[in-house]
Amino acid sequence: MARISWTRDELMLACALVAENGWHELRQNDPETLELSDLLRTLPLHSTAAKSDPRFRSPNSVSRKTTDIATAHPDYRGTTTRGGQPTRDVVADFLRYPAEMAAAASAIRSGIASGELHRIKPQPEEAGDDEETTAREGQLLARWAIYRERDRGLRDRKIQQARRRGEVIRCEVCSFDFTYAYGELGTGYVEVHHRLPLHVSGPTETKLDDLAFLCANCHRMCHKSFRGESWRTPDTLRAEMQKASRRRIPHAASDSAS
Ligand SMILES: [Zn+2]
Ligand SMILES: [Zn+2]
Repeated sequence: MARISWTRDELMLACALVAENGWHELRQNDPETLELSDLLRTLPLHSTAAKSDPRFRSPNSVSRKTTDIATAHPDYRGTTTRGGQPTRDVVADFLRYPAEMAAAASAIRSGIASGELHRIKPQPEEAGDDEETTAREGQLLARWAIYRERDRGLRDRKIQQARRRGEVIRCEVCSFDFTYAYGELGTGYVEVHHRLPLHVSGPTETKLDDLAFLCANCHRMCHKSFRGESWRTPDTLRAEMQKASRRRIPHAASDSAS
């Protein structure tokens, strides 16, 4: 059977172990290696056929991956093993964002332990393997976050709260109001977005104040994979829009001149 490439999520879990181990590799018989091997063999990322191969993420393959990771550290003085670019990218991110990456790895572990990550099917907007830039937090947390935001009950409670407070239900970033734009058809339509991504907040219970109202366009832009980021807050997106509008050459003027 062909070797199954390590995904970003798997590399994050392995890298978290190596980082905890002072950037040293783990051996085949180390309890941490055995535990990670078991865990990786259950992740909902590969086909059942791939997972049925006994060599798939065996303790030996996990141990070899920790060697790739440890030797990709810039302070390593020996010969670097061939880890591949995704391995080097994960190591670079762990060195650049140590707290965030460790939190993301532990959030993946919590999602697996609670069974939640196994219940959720792949979501249409999550960054797939064919994405040019892989989301920093990996595929499973992106999937979980999108699923969580689709919870109708949560969205409805947020809308009720806004109505009680007498607030207008519109996009927090661009002020788009579905009722204003589409009349009766758009009444009560809005999307909700978590201000904090799962890899920062951890898998906590969602409070209504953690949610922002967004229009469909702004929501897509908040989740777009771009330069390693696949999550933006409404404030960050608003700043991007302001930056874009300052750079824009007003084309309305040239349109009317022609
Ligand atoms: Zn908007
Ligand atoms: Zn969202």
